[in-house]
Amino acid sequence: MPVEVALARLLEMAEASRIVERERLPLAQVQGRVLAEDLLSTLDLPPWPNSAMDGYALRTADWTGEPLVVSQKVFAGQAPDPLQPGTCARIFTGAPVPAGADCVEMQENAEVQTDERVRFTQALSQGQNIRPQGQEATVGELILPAGTRLGPIEQGLAASLGYAELEVVRKVRVAVLSTGDELVEPGQTLGPGQIYNSNRVLLCSWLQRLGCEVVDAGILPDDLQTTRSRLGELKDVDLILSTGGVSVGEADFLGIALREEGELTLWKLAIKPGKPLTFGHFRGVPVIGLPGNPASTLVTFALLTRPYLLRRQGVKEVEPLKVQVPAGFDWPRPGNRREYLRGRLENGRATIYKNQSSGVLRSAAWADGLVEVLEGRTLVQGDSVFFIPLSEVLS
Ligand code: AMP
Ligand code: MG
Repeated sequence: MPVEVALARLLEMAEASRIVERERLPLAQVQGRVLAEDLLSTLDLPPWPNSAMDGYALRTADWTGEPLVVSQKVFAGQAPDPLQPGTCARIFTGAPVPAGADCVEMQENAEVQTDERVRFTQALSQGQNIRPQGQEATVGELILPAGTRLGPIEQGLAASLGYAELEVVRKVRVAVLSTGDELVEPGQTLGPGQIYNSNRVLLCSWLQRLGCEVVDAGILPDDLQTTRSRLGELKDVDLILSTGGVSVGEADFLGIALREEGELTLWKLAIKPGKPLTFGHFRGVPVIGLPGNPASTLVTFALLTRPYLLRRQGVKEVEPLKVQVPAGFDWPRPGNRREYLRGRLENGRATIYKNQSSGVLRSAAWADGLVEVLEGRTLVQGDSVFFIPLSEVLS
């Protein structure tokens, strides 16, 4: 199954189970959350014409070459009087422009005479150095639509409109399960055949960055009875996210449990790393089963699970930005799956980590992005490839 088909199906299912509950939060706490209602402008921004410079406000028609008297001084935060005809006003950046003035000249182009009148050395034009009322927003205008993900910039924008609180979609609750008899938590001693569980902390931490509420459900042994009962305990979550145990041919206890008490779709994705992926539900709770190899977990989480989680919160733009860059490597053998190589930009070219095995998480720590190589494609250095910065998907 091509990656985009799998993504389209996941997004459809996410859409069908959109989270509708919302909560009202102080502006400082909405980082990473999703706006639940359209944000409209409550005012004209700026509320009045103001000066973009430190200088002098005047009516252009009053400037005949004869120096002008300074009739008032306006600092930011003050309310000026209307401009007396035939005079100018000393004004500072951000201060309201007095009624009657139609331009601001910067102080560098003004000469103060010994009699304190001011002469302007350059030609003046109407509107210069004035930030017009409502240039950024006007009352009632749609500023951010519902479904916008909120970050520092949106928080700043909402603050500029006077919002102290915002209505956001409640957090998605995700249970993280690692499956495999071989798994041991860091801090414990490894026995024969055992490895440390890396996916658990990777996913829990990533989900937190995405603004999810994480239920850490620990390690699930490869055993049907335990799988059934542990899945049954995870009733109050929006998604069960498991890793491992989805490879074809292995005793797939997650799959068996889903078939018995829910639904299972096993996808063979045309993606590398990360071919097998499970989607279904257990007693009505959606389940996504990612492949266990850490690099596979990472790629399928970034490209499929993350968009799914965002769409469940009503986010429209869920796919990461890709940039086109020249390849800094050769790719002589075409693959039958779309590859996401862990790579870096060096001098504007995409280079790749020397070992692209799906078990090697170090490749991703070295990398700062995923280099997309399409199915059936060969490359020589300089050919164009898409690069997805990891920063695009990590938050
Ligand atoms: P599986 O999908 O269960 O066949 O696992 C594929 C590979 O990923 C095996 O080498 C597993 O040992 C490894 N693996 C599975 N889960 C984890 C995990 N949580 N942390 C590290 N490696 C894992
Ligand atoms: Mg396993």
